[in-house]
Order: sequence, then C-alpha cells, then structure tokens
Amino acid sequence: MLIGDRPALDLVNTGRLGDDTDLLATPPTAEAWVRAMAAHLTDVPLGTDLAVDGVRLDDLRLVRGAVAQVLQGRPRSSSLAVVNRFDTEAAPSWTLDLGPDGAPVAQRRVWGSGLDALLGLVAADCVAMVRDGLLDEIAECASPGCQLRFLRGHHRRRFCRPDCAHRSRQAAYQRRQGR
Ligand SMILES: [Zn+2]
Repeated sequence: MLIGDRPALDLVNTGRLGDDTDLLATPPTAEAWVRAMAAHLTDVPLGTDLAVDGVRLDDLRLVRGAVAQVLQGRPRSSSLAVVNRFDTEAAPSWTLDLGPDGAPVAQRRVWGSGLDALLGLVAADCVAMVRDGLLDEIAECASPGCQLRFLRGHHRRRFCRPDCAHRSRQAAYQRRQGR
C-alpha cells in the first residue's frame, strides 16, 4: 500500500497493484485502506466513523473510477459529475480557530461521516490536480511489476518510492552478473 501526498492518486492506486490485488475487493480490505488513510491524514479530523459496508464500498469504487478517468485526461461527463458531486457535498472545508498564543489558525472542518469526508477530500484533490495543471506530471512507476501512479515532481523521478528504485537497481545488477 502506497500512501503519498495526493489522496486522488492514493485512491486510484488501490486498484493498480502489480499482482492484480485490489484493495477495494471487499469491505474489510477497503476499510483497512480507509483507516490507513485516516491515520496518514493527521491534519484532517476524519473521526472514527470509517466503517465500510457494501453501499460505501460502491461509493469508493464509483469515485475511484471517476477520478481515474479524469486523471487520464479524457473523462466522460458522468465521471466529471461524480467528482463534482463528492467535491461539492463532502469535501472538508477550512475554519478559523484561535491558537494558544491568540493568533488565528486555519483548520480542516469535516462534514458528514469520516468516509464521506475522505471521498470529498479525494474529489477535491482531483479538482485541484486539474486546476494546477498536474495531469501531465502523473507517471507510472518504472519498476517492473509496479504500476503505481505518482507525481514526477521537480526531480523527474521514475519510481514511486525508494523501495522500487532499489529493487530496480538490484534487478539490473543481477542481469549484468548473469551475463
Ligand atoms: Zn513502484
């Protein structure tokens, strides 16, 4: 499981594991992913309402399919409607609080259940990636067997994470040794 700094890519990646594993295969596997995301998103208070049943699994898959289409660059209008709906209805907003020193602090405010908020966050991130012109920056990991998507960034990196770069270097080394 790869969790990075783009929730939209994190959701798309649940279905892009090299051995055809789908993290949204069943409610328990999907709930494990949702809980891992909630633990990772420490600045968004998703709360404890993170249970995934059959209906919520359908929502997760619906949003994943729509976001994947948008990020690929040629979405159907029905996919845009799904992303727009979850962004409008469930994306966490910002609220101001007073910090300990009396200065204002901006914090995330969640509407609805934790899972709704997570789907809203994914949809909002998808909108932001289009708005920021990032679709051309999405790359597929160059490590054999890894199909995870990530943003290349300034360093034009080729691997989704250091593990994959390491594995790829080792495979190249073994190929050379075998000659
Ligand atoms: Zn990888």
